Amino acid sequence: MTGSDIPVLIAGGGPAGLTLAISLGQLGVRCEVVDARPAPARVPGAQRCGARAMEIFRRLGVSGRLRDAGLPAEAPLDVLICAGSLDTPLVRHRYPQVAEVLAAGFEVNDGTMPLEPHVVLSQYTLEPLLREVAEATPGVRIRFGAELIDFALTAGGVTATVQTGSRLRTFRADYLVGCDGADSTVRRTLGLQTSGETRQPVRQALIYCPDLYERLPAGRAIQYEVVGEHPCALIVQDDIQHFALQAPLGGPPMAALFEAVTGPAVQPGSYKILHESEWAQRLLLADGYSGGPAGGLGNASGFGGFGSGFGRGPVVSGPGGAGPGPGDRVFLAGDAAHPASTPGGLGLSIAIADVADLAWKLAGTLHGWGGPALLRSYEAERRPVAAQAITALLAAAEAERRWRSEYRADILDDTPAGVRSRLRLTQAAAAEHWHTDLPGIERGFRYTGSPVIATGSGTPSGGDPDPAGYRYAPTTWPGARLPHIWLDDGTPLHDKLGNGFTLLLLPVSSDEGAQWYVREIAAAFIRFGAPLELVEVTSATAQAVYAGHRLILVRPDLHVAWRSGDSRPDAAALAALVTGNA
Ligand SMILES: Cc1cc2nc3c(=O)[nH]c(=O)nc-3n(C[C@H](O)[C@H](O)[C@H](O)COP(=O)(O)OP(=O)(O)OC[C@H]3O[C@@H](n4cnc5c(N)ncnc54)[C@H](O)[C@@H]3O)c2cc1C
Repeated sequence: MTGSDIPVLIAGGGPAGLTLAISLGQLGVRCEVVDARPAPARVPGAQRCGARAMEIFRRLGVSGRLRDAGLPAEAPLDVLICAGSLDTPLVRHRYPQVAEVLAAGFEVNDGTMPLEPHVVLSQYTLEPLLREVAEATPGVRIRFGAELIDFALTAGGVTATVQTGSRLRTFRADYLVGCDGADSTVRRTLGLQTSGETRQPVRQALIYCPDLYERLPAGRAIQYEVVGEHPCALIVQDDIQHFALQAPLGGPPMAALFEAVTGPAVQPGSYKILHESEWAQRLLLADGYSGGPAGGLGNASGFGGFGSGFGRGPVVSGPGGAGPGPGDRVFLAGDAAHPASTPGGLGLSIAIADVADLAWKLAGTLHGWGGPALLRSYEAERRPVAAQAITALLAAAEAERRWRSEYRADILDDTPAGVRSRLRLTQAAAAEHWHTDLPGIERGFRYTGSPVIATGSGTPSGGDPDPAGYRYAPTTWPGARLPHIWLDDGTPLHDKLGNGFTLLLLPVSSDEGAQWYVREIAAAFIRFGAPLELVEVTSATAQAVYAGHRLILVRPDLHVAWRSGDSRPDAAALAALVTGNA
């Protein structure tokens, strides 16, 4: 630390900022979160917390609380398309209940299942819970009603100005992380642009209607997509007493629309509209995720360029040319880096994975063992993932537009033309992938092109990930998330891995060369002061799923940094690479 007030200042106390604060606190890094809102608000937002995000929350010790607060695991998660009102369902798009995924997760032990399935948890339930956990985490301070209004980069860090009421406060921090959402002040101040798509704004309402769930005319589901003269979507919230209603601008008032789609199931006076607003749907990606002194906006390597439109815009190189230099002090995470505000839109899930990547890199750097490439790798790893997600979400949005365009006014008529209209729409909807069908993006992402992943020439590739993200294939390919497996004693391997690096030792005892090499690696980590644990894994499942790799080096975020293949790199060079010191 360099005489600053706080090692890490986090602008934004949404899901990304609060999760980053908990992670840093648990890694022994003091931090402060400032959020412009007086308190987390009860407005509709994310509702699906994906499997990878839940695995990350499990490592932070909060997944149980979140699951308990979410929609019951037995609740149906189907999506229905209805014509005009919920009385007339046309298509039931079936999704397994969380309880079914949990049960399958105990049965299937081939690396394909997540350790934690997703949960339906309204963002307005999630945020106060995260705030409570963050406030109870040693070293973490949370201030709501405090807005970051400006900052300046200095040689040793950042000087930030925060406004609380009429009071201005100046902070000196070693690092500033902008978790300040789609309209990020941090992103704007760094001069970073975004590219992608801003879709038509929509209206949304949060409606309290305690009896409706039991009486839903189309049967229970999680989401009702209504086609017709007044298209809209009704989304069940986690306590099954609140509903989010979304509709294009114009059209009848939200109360009238709600009564029209629910029909006789809802009487005037039996519900209350708690919140109404307009909401800009955005699927955008920032040109960069970081900035440093002297106007040095970095151009990190490794952007894979998934889809068109997300290539780097013009970049001002920092001192030393391409790539954020060691002086980079400001980072973006979550919607600040990739505004992804569409329903079911993965925005929350990728925001949580961003901060899981950034937290240990900040901690490693502040603790002194992380080299300059460690923080530089954050953008190289996370930006391509957001680009891939946004490309997939744009495709899902286009798919929705296609099936919705098949709506015809005669769709409910008992005539040959009506039957044809129904068939056209149902077939179009069935043929499309939906935005909730993306396990490959939720947990199948791999950090290709990262400066801290050892993908040496001797490393077998393990197959390519599905570029569209619809399939998840377990692999220990360096850069991938270590697939979850149950060990012979019934514990998940993930739970045995600590907050530092772990070297997994699959049976190597008869191989003296391997034992010697393990000692070399351990000694190299000690020289850097980087945390490394050795964990022996004898289970047959591990040997099968991990495809015969006898040594697997896993990072604190559970991504594979290196695995033994045809060759063994120099142990000191390997430790230097994965700790960012190469
Ligand atoms: C209707 C809707 C439905 C969605 N559904 C899903 C879903 O089902 N699944 C999913 O994964 N994602 C979904 N998303 C996207 C998801 O909500 C976002 O991706 C997620 O909230 C991003 O979290 P964040 O912490 O990065 O940003 P935010 O949640 O936007 O939090 C940013 C925080 O920064 C604060 N802030 C802003 N400026 C400043 C400043 N200058 N100083 C201090 N604080 C500041 C704000 O007050 C806010 O609290 C949905 C979004 C919407 C709008």
